[in-house]
Amino acid sequence: SFAQPQSLEQSLKHFFGYDSFRPGQREIIEQALQRRDSLIIMPTGGGKSLCFQLPALLKPGLMIVVSPLIALMQDQVEALQDNGIGATFLNSTLTAAEAKSRELAILQGDIKLLYVAPERLLSERFLLFLDTIENQLGVSAFAIDEAHCVSEWGHDFRPEYRKLKQLRNRYPKIPVLALTATATQRVRQDIIQQLELKNPYIHVASFNRPNLYYEVIPKKKQTFTQLLKIIQDVGGSGIIYCLSRKNVEDLAFRLQNHGISALPYHAGMEDQLRAENQTRFIRDDVQIMVATIAFGMGINKPDVRFVIHYNLPRTLESYYQESGRAGRDGEPARCTLFFSYGDIKTLEYLIDQKPDADEQRIARQQLRQMLDYAEASECRRTVQLSYFGEFFSENCGKCDNCRTQNPVEDWTIEAMKFLSCIARCQERFGMNYIIDVLRGSKSQKILDRHHDQLSTYGIGKDKTAEEWKNLGRSLLRQGLLDQTTDGYAILKLNSRSWEVMKRERTVEITVIKEQNLEKSTRSLA
Ligand code: ADP
Ligand code: ZN
Repeated sequence: SFAQPQSLEQSLKHFFGYDSFRPGQREIIEQALQRRDSLIIMPTGGGKSLCFQLPALLKPGLMIVVSPLIALMQDQVEALQDNGIGATFLNSTLTAAEAKSRELAILQGDIKLLYVAPERLLSERFLLFLDTIENQLGVSAFAIDEAHCVSEWGHDFRPEYRKLKQLRNRYPKIPVLALTATATQRVRQDIIQQLELKNPYIHVASFNRPNLYYEVIPKKKQTFTQLLKIIQDVGGSGIIYCLSRKNVEDLAFRLQNHGISALPYHAGMEDQLRAENQTRFIRDDVQIMVATIAFGMGINKPDVRFVIHYNLPRTLESYYQESGRAGRDGEPARCTLFFSYGDIKTLEYLIDQKPDADEQRIARQQLRQMLDYAEASECRRTVQLSYFGEFFSENCGKCDNCRTQNPVEDWTIEAMKFLSCIARCQERFGMNYIIDVLRGSKSQKILDRHHDQLSTYGIGKDKTAEEWKNLGRSLLRQGLLDQTTDGYAILKLNSRSWEVMKRERTVEITVIKEQNLEKSTRSLA
């Protein structure tokens, strides 16, 4: 039916039964129809699949979809087949005979979307089959799902994804659509490079999840009681993430003893039992999954009503992804982070075990940012989105900090001083150095670089180093300043920083409380 001229909306309705496109989908599809490479970044549940599925149906030939997870592949293919769409997959679960008959169906032109795992796709046998397809039917595009798997900077590096650039060499004219829910700038850059995308159309959707409520609760003796209360208040399915397998076992056991329907899930369990627990959770046989981060990737359960982190996650990105498993159906859901300084010690210990100094430095910076989120007095949404380079400055009304009005002060003048000092130092230094210059330090580094000659040298003597640090961190959390993610945290000005310096934007920060101050300087200064 792709030969009939009809509007994209009509096709959307015809194939999927939807009335309208979600934001961005239409533009992405138009670009795909013009055979342009693209990079599509949307949060989980944002509707990425449609962005390649509809073009696959509208274009002549076969679309190859690369997907890393067999379960995910099967789900998608089943959903398409339920809509009467010709889709199939080839992976290691099939017998040789099954694979053969699917290959025949493909060559007969009955199939518009073929899902394959990367290792299979790159096998010599499959590449020859692909040559035949390309000659007989044409390949409309390669859609690379979970494209962040090409990047070592992402949370799920897969070496076989690295080899996908072979496709580029072998089939230079076939467009590549890369899709991911990973939000960091670094990973985006890596995807473009690794997959050799040519002048790609880049779509970055907002990562705001308006239906999620975010809160951070200090972990104390009565935390378990608080946990029980959340479970009772919220009701419905939930995931509780713990750092270690032992924590998982202990907590699941404790919940069961309190008459709560909960099961453990971690990589140390026997495969069969683990799979069984997962299935029981998805089928609502059990209310709560107590899990390590091994749980969740590729799990499609739209009605998770709460995600609790019983321990501090390692990075804000993993927190975003894990907590984001709540409320995929768009209904309200609650994300709670229990936070203790003891967890930082544990995570620091784990970082110290890493063999590579670069890795350690980066992991420390990421932990610092996670800690900064936990200690923030700003809107939790603002902090999360600013981490992904997205600016959000409203009162969201759906986080603990927006609900409790923290007393704020106008620090615009101080912010102007701070930002100008970064500019004068040519955006080549981290926070501590900038503060030293502001406070007129006579350190050798500063004298050697003649930074004692700058107009901003010593203009910040009236404030303590801690007060400046509080300001600097708040600017970062509010998205009014950026920093590099290479572990050195070099401060970089963005367009909003310049607005502050030009007095086009005011800066408000929460005044530091003594007790917080002491804590945050103790760790990871
Ligand atoms: P992602 O791959 O980005 O995590 P999906 O492609 O699985 O997200 O889409 C999430 C949900 O949104 C799916 O149930 C899908 O059917 C639905 N969806 C996608 N696009 C639309 C649309 N235009 N209108 C209504 N529902 C949509
Ligand atoms: Zn908020």
